[in-house]
Amino acid sequence: MMAAALNETGLRGELLLDEPLSRHTSWRVGGPARRFYRPADRADLVAFLQTLALDEPLLWLGLGSNLLVRDGGFDGTVLAVSGRLNALRLSGSDRLYGEVGVACAHVARLAVRSGGVGLEFLAGIPGTLGGALAMNAGAFGGETWANVVEVETVDRSGIVRTRPPADFVVAYREVHGPAGEWFLAATLHFEPGDAAGAQQRVRQLLDRRAATQPTSQPSGGSTFRNPPGDFAARLIETAGLKGLTIGGAQVSPKHANFIVNLGGATAADIEALIAEVAARVKAVHGVDLRAEVHTVGESA
Ligand SMILES: Cc1cc2nc3c(=O)[nH]c(=O)nc-3n(C[C@H](O)[C@H](O)[C@H](O)COP(=O)(O)OP(=O)(O)OC[C@H]3O[C@@H](n4cnc5c(N)ncnc54)[C@H](O)[C@@H]3O)c2cc1C
Repeated sequence: MMAAALNETGLRGELLLDEPLSRHTSWRVGGPARRFYRPADRADLVAFLQTLALDEPLLWLGLGSNLLVRDGGFDGTVLAVSGRLNALRLSGSDRLYGEVGVACAHVARLAVRSGGVGLEFLAGIPGTLGGALAMNAGAFGGETWANVVEVETVDRSGIVRTRPPADFVVAYREVHGPAGEWFLAATLHFEPGDAAGAQQRVRQLLDRRAATQPTSQPSGGSTFRNPPGDFAARLIETAGLKGLTIGGAQVSPKHANFIVNLGGATAADIEALIAEVAARVKAVHGVDLRAEVHTVGESA
């Protein structure tokens, strides 16, 4: 990792060269990013985008909790917004406004403290609001886009737009919007309700997670999407794959849809295990599992 000089550009963020992405993903694997930029704030991010060559590969990074970065790293620029685009405020009695670098847990906390109901599910999702918008993150019956009033996006030339949900095709863990735009911020709706009840629901949801998920081991959360009418974890478990290990990657004995890094896993171990699980589930159940995690970068 090397810091590069920005002082003549007017940019105020931090530019690192060859930054290991294993430091920025929840699986703790991933090779280096050729360039890794942490903007100072939103205006700085917009200015930075305008300096990029049109063909520069770009990867937006939140908390890296849904990303498998290959061992050869990312030959382009990573934009790391977690904690940098971090405005978060109420905007009316039943809405809040958040920039994409805010952690989902903070969004949930603000809603709950204000007596808001409907965003509690975000409390246990270990990502940013930007990642939640990109993934339509959800849990325990709640989904991010069910609460979106509007979003702000930015494109490569730095143009910022406000868009309604109707501009996006939203599905289970999948969101498609206008090409070449990324999320900058969102206004989310919540129902006015009872703060104590909402706080209790958050505690219950977090307890349920701790009881059923390997939360103390590095993972990428749910590896596969649930196929229609079924659960990926059920299919993997009944195929006898809990505990299956390749290198340092293991199908969690606690939750079959989680692959954990036992210590020295490489991204190649994890990718091989994902392929092996999918092949065995297909052989046993005849079901094609689709990955929920996004795989990016080059093989080593
Ligand atoms: C222990 C654990 C539990 C989990 N539980 C859940 C769960 O209950 N429900 C659930 O849905 N997910 C869960 N996940 C997965 C993950 O937390 C979510 O998908 C989360 O929304 C990812 O957010 P992130 O900030 O980490 O995104 P990242 O992993 O950094 O990025 C994910 C994708 O979004 C893109 N992206 C990020 N920011 C932006 C942006 N501003 N604009 C456009 N694209 C962007 C990235 O390029 C990437 O393709 C879990 C993960 C772990 C490790």
